[in-house]
Amino acid sequence: MAQTPQQVLEASKAQCIFCKIISGEIPSFKIYEDNKVYAFLDINPVNAGHTLVIPKEHYIVLPQMPDALATHLMKVVKYLSGAIFEMTGAHGINVFQNNGAAAGQEVPHVHFHIIPRFQDDKSVGEWKRNQIDPEKLKQMADAMGKNLKPISSRVKLGSTTQKVTKKKKPATKRKKTIKVTKRKKT
Ligand code: AMP
Ligand code: ZN
Repeated sequence: MAQTPQQVLEASKAQCIFCKIISGEIPSFKIYEDNKVYAFLDINPVNAGHTLVIPKEHYIVLPQMPDALATHLMKVVKYLSGAIFEMTGAHGINVFQNNGAAAGQEVPHVHFHIIPRFQDDKSVGEWKRNQIDPEKLKQMADAMGKNLKPISSRVKLGSTTQKVTKKKKPATKRKKTIKVTKRKKT
């Protein structure tokens, strides 16, 4: 029988490295803590000062989090990114947050990376960018804008499908499919 979303969450929590860090079962190098959020140094830093900021409660991906907790987490990320900027003398800061294996998430507990960056350090790979017809961008923005929902009922992440809320969908017209055509670089 398929697992319920709650069972999926509980199963992932039972094996979660970051939950074990919060409980003290696994050691970590803490830099900040309050009653809802914990921040510690990444064990394999991209640059010195690379920090992970996590909620103490176990959620796999960002869209699953209650708004109030996500808001508080973001406030801490903002505060720490400024503090780390100052402390490390970085020239820049990346804030990354991966959701799902396809997006590079290895630890299934929501976390923000704060990564100090230095001029030409080349420590984070460049994104592969595509060219796109502005007309296609317009169509996509229109279609996406019309179909935005507060939180989709399903967040699909590779093999895992987490049901976030159980809302009946109103009958809608068939969605327009928009193809993004890659153009060769000239
Ligand atoms: P992600 O690929 O976004 O899931 O990032 C997970 C991060 O967790 C990686 O940058 C790892 O280096 C880091 N990490 C994994 N285990 C530990 C640990 N025990 N202590 C600190 N950082 C860890
Ligand atoms: Zn966890």
